Amino acid sequence: MLALAGYPLGLRCEFLDRDAATPGGQVAPILVGELDDAGRLAELASRSDVLTFDWENIPGKALAPLRRLTRIRPSPTALRLSQDRLHEKALFARLGIPIARHAAVDTRSQLLAALSRLGLPGVLKTRRLGYDGKGQAVIRRAAEAEAAWARFHDQPLIYEAFQPFAREVSIIGARSVSGELAYYPLAANTHADGVLRYCVAPYANRKLARAAALYLRRVMRALDYIGVLALEFFVVDGALVANEMAPRVHNSGHWTIEGCVTSQFENHLRAICDLPLGSTRVLGSAAMINFLGCLPSRERLLGIEGLAFHDYGKTPRAGRKLGHCTILRRGAADRNVALRRALKLIEWT
Ligand code: AMP
Repeated sequence: MLALAGYPLGLRCEFLDRDAATPGGQVAPILVGELDDAGRLAELASRSDVLTFDWENIPGKALAPLRRLTRIRPSPTALRLSQDRLHEKALFARLGIPIARHAAVDTRSQLLAALSRLGLPGVLKTRRLGYDGKGQAVIRRAAEAEAAWARFHDQPLIYEAFQPFAREVSIIGARSVSGELAYYPLAANTHADGVLRYCVAPYANRKLARAAALYLRRVMRALDYIGVLALEFFVVDGALVANEMAPRVHNSGHWTIEGCVTSQFENHLRAICDLPLGSTRVLGSAAMINFLGCLPSRERLLGIEGLAFHDYGKTPRAGRKLGHCTILRRGAADRNVALRRALKLIEWT
């Protein structure tokens, strides 16, 4: 999607991926190698004007030496911070962004202390390399703590108080080299087993939208951030509690391809290539549904007015994100009718 956004601007992408059959290979050249392969990274960096990433679990150490060869945007510092849930929370706290009560857990006794201090239920998470609900376990009763500890004890952990959220929302924004900012409206996200199923946008709540934009601006300014950044929140008692950030284009912003004047992909490219940012004005009421595990019938979905179909060309596998569709309608009521129709045609496996 980044490569596709680049073509009309005359920007060409090349990707490093472990697998030659990666979706990006359908639209851009692929360099095959591990994401910490110093030789491959240097090869890519030496022929690129700018390096970026759309996955945050890239070893920061591998990127550091590339700074001599080209620009890296967003910065490796932003990447490193987002890779560790504890550091991320410390940043949010320093910037006055509300977060869940939590404790670092490296030993069994620290886990027991965290359970008694923060109470139940809670979520035990790996500090690093967790995404889409991977590397986490909900602890509802004290008796479940031992099993969660056994699963994850060989890595640094964090225990968080469970957030009784009414919904989950995210905000995406872009910041350019000159400090220009652009925000997309809030999206309301529905997850299952930690994976985004679908989202609707704009999620019309002025108070929350203002707070989310303020928090996003604080993070982007503090990090002297360049590119697209996403912040995910829980809505608890009518207020935002930050969960995590993603220093990249985000699944809850895929709807912006059809739903906004300029998509998150184009704005990411504009930001990292030192171009003016594009308008984030919304063109209607949108919904985005992920295709997980299997592709639904293209023919039947395309029968829904205002629906755009995105097939990433991946091999189906249980739980794998294979594509998505976006629905764009004039008003929210109309969009909701179309969303319900589409959801009936989509199965997640
Ligand atoms: P994460 O990997 O932190 O984004 O977590 C994936 C999903 O798990 C979130 O989108 C929530 O649905 C759920 N989750 C994570 N942390 C918590 C929490 N502290 N309280 C309640 N639900 C959570």
